[in-house]
Amino acid sequence: MQKIVNEIDVALIGGGIMSATLATILHEIDPKLKIHLFEKLPSFGEESSAALNNAGTGHAGNCELNYTPEKNNKINLNKALSVCEMFELSLQLWAYIVKNDKSIAPETFITKSSHASFVWDKKHTEFLEKRFKLISKQPLFKGMTFTKDAQTIKSLFPLLIKGRKNNENISLTNYEYGTDINFGQLTSILIKRLLKNPSFKIHTNEHVTKIKKMNNGYQFQTQLGQVHTKFIFLGAGGNSIKILQNLKLPQAKGYGGFPISGKWLVCDNQAIIKQHKGKVYSQAETGAPPMSVPHLDIRNINGKQSLLFGPFAGFTFKFLKSGSFLDFPSSIKLSNLKEILTVGIKNLNLVSYLVKQALQNHTNRMKHLRKFYPEAKSSDWELISAGQRVQIIKPSDGLFGKLEFGTEIIYDNNKTLAALLGASPGASVSAASMLEIVEKCFLNKNQEYRKKLRVIFPSYGIKLNENPSKLQTLRRSYRKILKLL
Ligand SMILES: Cc1cc2nc3c(=O)[nH]c(=O)nc-3n(C[C@H](O)[C@H](O)[C@H](O)COP(=O)(O)OP(=O)(O)OC[C@H]3O[C@@H](n4cnc5c(N)ncnc54)[C@H](O)[C@@H]3O)c2cc1C
Repeated sequence: MQKIVNEIDVALIGGGIMSATLATILHEIDPKLKIHLFEKLPSFGEESSAALNNAGTGHAGNCELNYTPEKNNKINLNKALSVCEMFELSLQLWAYIVKNDKSIAPETFITKSSHASFVWDKKHTEFLEKRFKLISKQPLFKGMTFTKDAQTIKSLFPLLIKGRKNNENISLTNYEYGTDINFGQLTSILIKRLLKNPSFKIHTNEHVTKIKKMNNGYQFQTQLGQVHTKFIFLGAGGNSIKILQNLKLPQAKGYGGFPISGKWLVCDNQAIIKQHKGKVYSQAETGAPPMSVPHLDIRNINGKQSLLFGPFAGFTFKFLKSGSFLDFPSSIKLSNLKEILTVGIKNLNLVSYLVKQALQNHTNRMKHLRKFYPEAKSSDWELISAGQRVQIIKPSDGLFGKLEFGTEIIYDNNKTLAALLGASPGASVSAASMLEIVEKCFLNKNQEYRKKLRVIFPSYGIKLNENPSKLQTLRRSYRKILKLL
């Protein structure tokens, strides 16, 4: 047996936004914790968190119509409200970081970008108006506007109206204080800041595949030798499920992953880009996975603006962009075979949607884009790959496995391991997701931590939607720090 070269408090597997966020919160509440991050690529933030691998939307429920589903004529706002509350926590964390480190320019990772929802038929316009009447009364969404007037829409988003033949049933909601975020850049900022503390270390080109449960934590092999850690976080994106399977954690029995790839149409023609500001979402097509709602979106990436449309979804066998075509087949085990097969049967709509999406050519994709932007010219747009999302397949009480589009954090019995599965709403709610881990795995050990969390997250333990005056004061303060006013 190789000697243990590293005895550490916290091991983070994967160098994306989630690990960077968890390390940041932990180091703020206890700078002495020995935290090491292990990343399989030569650099961090290169997978789903990289700018063009995701949509960069600060998901807050402003424009994502799938967060406010309608059933029996009733619109349910719960998901939009909860995502928005979680996003406010992210803003608080980022504002705290910027406030305490004058060298960080917030505009390098977050910018103000209107979040709009645009629809063009009677049924969806009725829904959008009804949704607006409900959601605009909520303090969190104060300031949202609604219009059916083509001229007003044109003044905000000209590309949506120019060349449109029928303006009869169009409508739009707009929320001016939405955000566009470069999560890759943010990951980098957080990690570089952490590296100033000698008890934080990163190890790149370290592919961790097998971890072993010990009496007092976990152990795994690296190029340096054995590492022993008291706590481990699996933040390996799509790969976390494979590490969990190797570990045979009882809590993950029957779990599997369903990979969905993404593609964008990108336009770099400055004359067109100049005419669009913000992110315009719409309703998803039948069978579309909720996180693949296409949108027309201005992105600010390293000082350069691009216009993106997508994501177009597709089926893939890879769990990571840098993964292998064997990822999905090798994740099918006797222990999850029933769940994977039954999920396939139960979600035929989704499977057929993904197949259709994967078979689309440039002409079909352009047709889709022209529903948003009627005058789009094929020659201005090219196709690029986005990141991979691995949806959770899990056991359910019934006969069938369950396919989940959200995120789930799995813990071991002793709360010495946490693994993040799934990818939606994703990076936007990284602070709330990682805060959950801190609360479950670290807080009972030290009550002092709670006091420190209240400094980082001024709304810690409070629902801002139920405290409108606090919401107003806090928002003004962190939007100012992040230059989002
Ligand atoms: C098309 C698309 C659009 C999206 N749009 C949005 C959006 O608009 N807003 C939003 O908030 N979220 C969005 N998301 C989701 C968001 O990108 C993810 O939730 C987030 O980036 C996940 O961060 P992570 O740290 O968990 O994973 P990642 O960023 O994927 O990081 C995981 C890291 O683990 C490393 N790794 C993997 N296996 C191992 C191993 N065995 N050993 C060591 N290292 C390993 C990988 O190389 C990688 O660096 C989108 C995702 C996709 C794919």
